[in-house]
Amino acid sequence: MSFGMLKAMETYDVIIVGAGHAGCEAALAAARVGARTLMLTMNPQHVALMPCNPSIGGPAKGHLVREIDALGGAMGRVIDETLIQIRMLNTGKGPAVQALRAQADKHAYNAAMTRVLAQQGGLELRGGLVADLLTGGAGEVRCIEGVRLTTGETLRCSAIVLCTGTSLNGRCISGEHTFAAGRAGEPAATALSDALRRLGFELGRLKTGTPPRHDRLEPRRGAARLPGAPLLQRLRAPRFRGVA
Ligand SMILES: Cc1cc2nc3c(=O)[nH]c(=O)nc-3n(C[C@H](O)[C@H](O)[C@H](O)COP(=O)(O)OP(=O)(O)OC[C@H]3O[C@@H](n4cnc5c(N)ncnc54)[C@H](O)[C@@H]3O)c2cc1C
Repeated sequence: MSFGMLKAMETYDVIIVGAGHAGCEAALAAARVGARTLMLTMNPQHVALMPCNPSIGGPAKGHLVREIDALGGAMGRVIDETLIQIRMLNTGKGPAVQALRAQADKHAYNAAMTRVLAQQGGLELRGGLVADLLTGGAGEVRCIEGVRLTTGETLRCSAIVLCTGTSLNGRCISGEHTFAAGRAGEPAATALSDALRRLGFELGRLKTGTPPRHDRLEPRRGAARLPGAPLLQRLRAPRFRGVA
């Protein structure tokens, strides 16, 4: 893995744009099947950063993580290693809506996932902001040929996977203020959004509503024992610390 400067006209089988949860799993999956893979992200120190509630699990995300785990993914293993609390949600309701959720030590999670990426052969992680998509062909028959970064450098590839999270044309609304932004302190990926539009894609916006934070925190205990099957396939009782 290299965090070095990008060299012009390097060629990869797959370029993954983004190093959030989605980017990490996409990059690991591509490299595992032998593709020469490059992962580009705004800040390589922010691998698998959790900008909001640093948790893995719950009724929707938990399901997804288990499916990814069954396919050999990393999130389940990394949360097992870095969880500080785990509890069953919705115990007052029926079993269909109950789900385990683990709270992560977000810095430990970032470090552990960075280590997993570094250990994966055939995978490079580099800093770089993708501004444009290079395509070949004409009219409606187009194929991806690479990416151009904001620095003007180009990188060739046969396939690209966009895992840009909330960054594309991202907008933050905080009280009365509205400003262009990606996740926690990162810029919005405005140039890449424009590139997609030029290629004929329609862009919309999905809203994530983060409630205001307050500083009167009440401790909440995790579960003492895991009831039934663990949320994450590799979660084992000795790993489970069950602290608040
Ligand atoms: C304030 C906030 C609150 C949220 N609240 C919740 C919540 O409560 N529950 C929930 O499930 N989700 C929430 N989310 C969504 C959260 O982003 C996802 O859960 C999850 O982190 C998304 O992972 P991801 O891999 O898709 O994207 P992200 O973690 O956002 O990663 C995107 C990656 O793409 C990179 N990137 C983007 N554009 C470019 C480019 N042009 N060039 C290079 N790199 C690029 C970024 O640097 C980053 O590495 C919230 C997001 C934000 C910002």
